[in-house]
Amino acid sequence: MGGCGLKGLVWIVGAGPGDPDLITVKGLRLLSEAHLVVYAGSLINRELLHRCPEGCEVLDSSKMTLAEQVRVMADRALKGLNVVRLHTGDPSLYGAIGEQIRELKALGVECRIVPGVSSLQGAAAALGIEYTVPGGTQTLVCTRLPGRTPVPSKEDLRVYASTGATLALFLSSDMGDEISRLCMEGGLPGDTPAAWVYRATWPDQRVGTAKLRELGQRMKAEHVNRQALIIVGRCVEESGTSLLYDPRFSHMYRKAHDEGPEGGMG
Ligand code: SAH
Repeated sequence: MGGCGLKGLVWIVGAGPGDPDLITVKGLRLLSEAHLVVYAGSLINRELLHRCPEGCEVLDSSKMTLAEQVRVMADRALKGLNVVRLHTGDPSLYGAIGEQIRELKALGVECRIVPGVSSLQGAAAALGIEYTVPGGTQTLVCTRLPGRTPVPSKEDLRVYASTGATLALFLSSDMGDEISRLCMEGGLPGDTPAAWVYRATWPDQRVGTAKLRELGQRMKAEHVNRQALIIVGRCVEESGTSLLYDPRFSHMYRKAHDEGPEGGMG
């Protein structure tokens, strides 16, 4: 597949956040050549599945145990068939791919990963913002609140809030109140801007902003308690002014007019 025709190979493909046009060209090609596709039921846009060839076996992973998924993928891959495991967004964020890769490897099956557009990028596009703020924070933290999956105690949200970095919260859509409380305990002012993006890049995408102290209340009023990314930080309101286009700032494509301050490439 993809010109390599290797036996015993599974492609882990990032499907993008929702809009089916946001899968990569490579991901789409692999999908169009697949004999078996296992996809994450709740968050993958089914329109993508129309790109599978006729006769392709298509299985919803949400109805299967990990062992069942691994068994069927390994079986087809070892027969030399083209196998795609489709993950929402980018597989590197909360994708739980490690266990699949390990178990497939134990059966003699290698995995290769095709990156995807994460809901992280989908949400920034929906909000029209830049997470890193010229002249402001240069850091983005991707995290979540503990749910059934614990979060290490050293990664308490208060610790990150205390830095003033942009915070992107996955898997925490129903915990707006808790996010406000912890961020404020960490030292962020209650009027810090925050936003949520529900189903970024889907046709029913919804976006809202609130002061940090009102985040939970506002999300409840808008009935947003799932499939949302929450962003906390000044980036929601401020875009800053980049040094990149400052005439005093030189970079590899342009010479400075004057001696400029240090900066970064966008
Ligand atoms: N690998 C995925 C994240 C999987 S975890 C990615 O890169 O996007 C699932 C969480 O991701 C959800 O609880 C939600 O917080 C976020 N998420 C996934 N798709 C989303 C979308 N289209 N819009 C907003 N948030 C989304």
